[in-house]
Amino acid sequence: MILTPNLVSLPPMIKNLESGWFTEIYRDGGSAFSLQIREKLHEEQSHYQHIEIYATTHFGNLMVIDGCYMLTSFDNFLYHEMMSHPALFTHPAPRRVVIIGGGDCGTLREVLKHPGVEHALQVDIDERVTRLSEQYFPELCESNHDPRAELHFGDGIQWMKDAPAGSVDLIIVDSTDPVGPAEGLFTEAFFRDCHRALGDDGVIVQQSESPLYHLDTIIRPMHKAMRDAGFSDSVTLPFPQPIYPSGWWSATVAGKIPVQAFRVADARNKTFQTRYYNADIHQGALAQPAFFGD
Ligand code: SAM
Repeated sequence: MILTPNLVSLPPMIKNLESGWFTEIYRDGGSAFSLQIREKLHEEQSHYQHIEIYATTHFGNLMVIDGCYMLTSFDNFLYHEMMSHPALFTHPAPRRVVIIGGGDCGTLREVLKHPGVEHALQVDIDERVTRLSEQYFPELCESNHDPRAELHFGDGIQWMKDAPAGSVDLIIVDSTDPVGPAEGLFTEAFFRDCHRALGDDGVIVQQSESPLYHLDTIIRPMHKAMRDAGFSDSVTLPFPQPIYPSGWWSATVAGKIPVQAFRVADARNKTFQTRYYNADIHQGALAQPAFFGD
């Protein structure tokens, strides 16, 4: 199918769909990443955002929100595994997990692989992301009916404000970029609410964009906001993510406990399959690139 040219300005990204290729241009970084498209499967404007689903030739299905790549069937395991397992193996015994965002349900699936997790609540503002994921990414939604899983649709910022103190062990913020409804998820005020909602050994992990492009604009400010909110330790774990700007992404972990150590023996003896994460990958990601200290 030949797709008609279409150019829409959506700062800081633009999309440029033409001749069977979808190109997400990251204007601020002077770079772009293209995927060959087989067909458009779906497009809608939800109450919160513009959602598109494509079938690609080599990356499986692709979800795009507000012109930005969210995930593909082919490479989402890198992101979902690094957003969940390092933090889960950092907390001494995570039982109560809350995912803010994460509407595609891939992070929820990884969380529920941990037998010690008793309750995993996903709070995404946009139910349409989950309904479309059930349809076009069913493999990510295979744990949605696990009796420990709960799906709630609402604003994660408000949910965290209302959460009882000490009621959560681990918070995973699997959000869109810090524009629109996700903007408040990158603020000290939000991290303060998270700190209050977390128990004594509480840990939080937040997707923190590209180490190459966003060290000064997102990663360093996030560390400061997390520390100012009361967390005593924080570390950024880089990992590959081909479809995101620069191909290199990160998860920033903070805690009321040290987060540069983890349950290595449990990670080595984990009882479930992963495709990227293992204890050595976790250890390696804790080794900080020299330029992080510049
Ligand atoms: N892996 C993706 C990335 O880094 O680009 C994130 C994917 S996930 C689909 C992001 C989700 O965050 C979306 O489903 C969106 O609806 C949700 N979201 C954005 N702002 C939110 C908020 N304030 N509360 C809850 N969910 C939010």
